[in-house]
Amino acid sequence: MERCAAWGGSVGPLAWFAAGCAPAGPDPVPDRRAKHVTDDDKNGSVPGYVRLHRRGELKERGEALWNRMSPCKLCPRTCGVDRPAGEKGFCQAGADLVISSHHPHFGEEPPLVGRGGSGTVFFSHCGLRCVFCINYQVSLLGEGRNRTIDDLARMMLDLQEMGCHNINVVTPSHYSPYIVLALDQAAAEGLTLPLVYNTCGWENLEILLLLEGIVDIYLADFKYACGEMAAKYSTCLPPDPKYLDSEVGERFTPTNIYPQLTQAALREMNRQVGVAKPGEDGLLRRGLIIRHLVMPNNVGGTAEVIRWIAQNLPKDTYVNIMSQYTPYHRADEFPDISRRITREEYEDAVAVAKGEGLTNLDLQRFRSPVFF
Ligand code: SF4
Repeated sequence: MERCAAWGGSVGPLAWFAAGCAPAGPDPVPDRRAKHVTDDDKNGSVPGYVRLHRRGELKERGEALWNRMSPCKLCPRTCGVDRPAGEKGFCQAGADLVISSHHPHFGEEPPLVGRGGSGTVFFSHCGLRCVFCINYQVSLLGEGRNRTIDDLARMMLDLQEMGCHNINVVTPSHYSPYIVLALDQAAAEGLTLPLVYNTCGWENLEILLLLEGIVDIYLADFKYACGEMAAKYSTCLPPDPKYLDSEVGERFTPTNIYPQLTQAALREMNRQVGVAKPGEDGLLRRGLIIRHLVMPNNVGGTAEVIRWIAQNLPKDTYVNIMSQYTPYHRADEFPDISRRITREEYEDAVAVAKGEGLTNLDLQRFRSPVFF
């Protein structure tokens, strides 16, 4: 296991709750907005992390993220545990980096897959606890092997050597410091593939600001329009009040914390990387992809999710409306989500998206056999 004793520094206040504002305090997130958005960033011709590595800034970002593990606030849970010391928070990740697998994946969106596949690294543990998780052995039970940051860098290089078109870190939030430090090592050894941050979308804004210029493609879920559904089925709840700035922390309740933070995160991702537009070769090198999984009995609030995207992000935002909901794990305990969706439910979702004027839709065959 990789450790860095010097990374246990101070952390700033939880001002990320003031969505959209970089926090103030003794260890602020630097304002990199203007500095890192260059013409190269905009056209995606060179992965941003390569430039940061050359300037020596990528390691600094990794260290800044590492500082946010003690007390841990890498995700909106802000458990406050001392991860480098081995304490485990809600996600069950501690100091050890646990990885389930890495391999070319051909089930992602076509502009990520191409002919060589998307180079996925599946991380164990998860900051959500979705009762219907298709991958619960890895995300909830923590199946996987302990790895070092060196190992992760080698995996990234292996995926590049295999001909993958990108490095796709799946469920990355609780391991973001390790990922950025591994990326720095891999960049030193020639890694040049775009980085795909494959996230549940419920992200800490402060962490996203530290990822600016590092992530090339955000692949983010927008699961629920309703915070109560997010609390019930994915345990998206406000963090323990003892870790909150009292004034801003009081703004959050189980009914608003999921939609408010996810919407703020999606706006920030769009600001950083913009609309996902594949190149002439059909491959995507930069941009935001939003995934929405249509759930039975409108548990996800599909129409509201789609309307929010259409009214708050560019109309040509890449939106994947997913049809393959399957009642895995504990879903049978919840009558509303204990079945697959109907054809009508999926077609209603598509009709809303088209009616709202979204022009960059990734539509699947109903009950697609392809799993993401
Ligand atoms: S759930 Fe989030 S805040 Fe808590 S330990 Fe895991 S990453 Fe850190």
